[in-house]
Amino acid sequence: MSTSTKYIFVTGGVTSSLGKGIVSASLAKLLQARGFNVTIQKLDPYINVDPGTLNPYEHGECYVTEDGAETDLDLGHYERFLNISTSQNNNVTTGKIYQSVINKERRGDYLGKTVQVVPHITNEIKEHILKLGKGDNYDVVITEIGGTVGDIESLPFIESIRQLKWDLGKDVLFIHLTLIPYLSTSGELKTKPTQHSVKTLLEYGIQPDILVCRTEHHLDEDLRKKIALFCNVEKECVIESIDAKSIYEVPLLMFKEKLDAVVCQKLALDFSKKPDLLKWNNFLENLHQPTHTINIALVGKYVELKDSYISIAESLIHAGSKNKTKVNLNWIHSSKLTDENCASYLEDVSGIIVAPGFGSRAIEGKIKAVEYARVNEIPFLGICLGMQCAVIEYARNVLNMKDAHTVEIDSDTRFPVISMMEEQKKLEKMGGTMRLGSYKCEIENNTLLHRIYSNNIIDERHRHRFEFNNKYLEDFQNSGVVFSGKNKKNQLMETIEIPSHPWFLGVQFHPEYKSTVENPHPIFSSFIQAGLNFATK
Ligand code: GLN
Repeated sequence: MSTSTKYIFVTGGVTSSLGKGIVSASLAKLLQARGFNVTIQKLDPYINVDPGTLNPYEHGECYVTEDGAETDLDLGHYERFLNISTSQNNNVTTGKIYQSVINKERRGDYLGKTVQVVPHITNEIKEHILKLGKGDNYDVVITEIGGTVGDIESLPFIESIRQLKWDLGKDVLFIHLTLIPYLSTSGELKTKPTQHSVKTLLEYGIQPDILVCRTEHHLDEDLRKKIALFCNVEKECVIESIDAKSIYEVPLLMFKEKLDAVVCQKLALDFSKKPDLLKWNNFLENLHQPTHTINIALVGKYVELKDSYISIAESLIHAGSKNKTKVNLNWIHSSKLTDENCASYLEDVSGIIVAPGFGSRAIEGKIKAVEYARVNEIPFLGICLGMQCAVIEYARNVLNMKDAHTVEIDSDTRFPVISMMEEQKKLEKMGGTMRLGSYKCEIENNTLLHRIYSNNIIDERHRHRFEFNNKYLEDFQNSGVVFSGKNKKNQLMETIEIPSHPWFLGVQFHPEYKSTVENPHPIFSSFIQAGLNFATK
């Protein structure tokens, strides 16, 4: 049995959005449940150095790691499935690769050579892939290649993994995820797009070992045989991936299809023990047999694209399962909310979340949602910009600071209750310069936050430039607001509460980045409990 790190590469064919991230995370989960030390990496072919400067409408949420990297949302799936932390090494973009190669060229590292895609860019990509394997004694590194095979921009990545197969031989495995479309008029599943997609891969010198086939209908034996024959894979290596009712079902579906067993066999990994999926199955059982149902409103400005708030939505699923509660999420566009119609949107919810965000568009609707939650004593959770909206709302409507605002939106406001952090003022570049990643937060005793965490020191992840303006601290405190969590080193107010309200919490950090299937986040769990109390009042 070999003991070297194994590398699994997952490519996608036919169309985008087939769920490579979920299939990769599911395979990783199964291998982890068999006792292997596994991590996952995403290679993104776009030229942005990271997704931090991208509008969420482009690729959905920007996920932040402990070490402050702004990354692709698939890293969120990896962490939620595996219950491990990822880092900046887990997400590599074309931009990052070129930036590094160009910096080396400027330093003279290439000793007068012509710098080319092959070998300089491909070597840089290979280094990034292998670096992850060397780090923490991983048994298996799964690398997901973004985009669809055949795209011009992913070619250097495909060439790099072809070379790695040549370099590492039996320690490398290729999995190709494709679509088997169903033609309803003829009632048939079609294999041709998959055949073509594999042909494209073969042109690049890659023979997939395993095909994972997304499908709306079950693949019968004949169809599996046909795919195997035309694509040069064993029949056992044609894995069906049927549409699932929840992404969290996918590991079990992949287990039934023996994806992990085939992978272990091919990579000479021990697969004699059954995977331990006890916690995972308990989570699913609670998820599928809830004893309660509640409605939660998520107020934001990117609600048309649900991926923009994916970590929040998933955190609510984790917390719902923990509380045996089905959470119906009402996605509400903040541009729609006005004084007159707020009640019609929010009267049937048992909890309101105001989402993170940037810029002025649709901010007034968010502030209205806070007011509705505060006045009607509905459980309220404000995250990042959501907390800042809570501060603005309180200043305007309780402290009589009529045009109070954040300087992000109104730099001339008479009451800048949210202002720019000192360290941010001297920065000129936008990319990677926010307050990012994990910071310590100290919690006051006898607060909602303390009841939630049962701890005085916590670590949570951040992504912001603006903060509560301490000039107004006493005004808020004198009127009953409690700042329950602080970064004492920099005197940053990280959380606000209103103790006279049943459950009102604004957090400058992002708890949603740390909720996992096996470790639902206590803030979301407590929020759902508060919602249940509200619903039964
Ligand atoms: N725009 C706000 C800031 O930069 C909030 C950021 C966020 O919600 N992530 O401080």
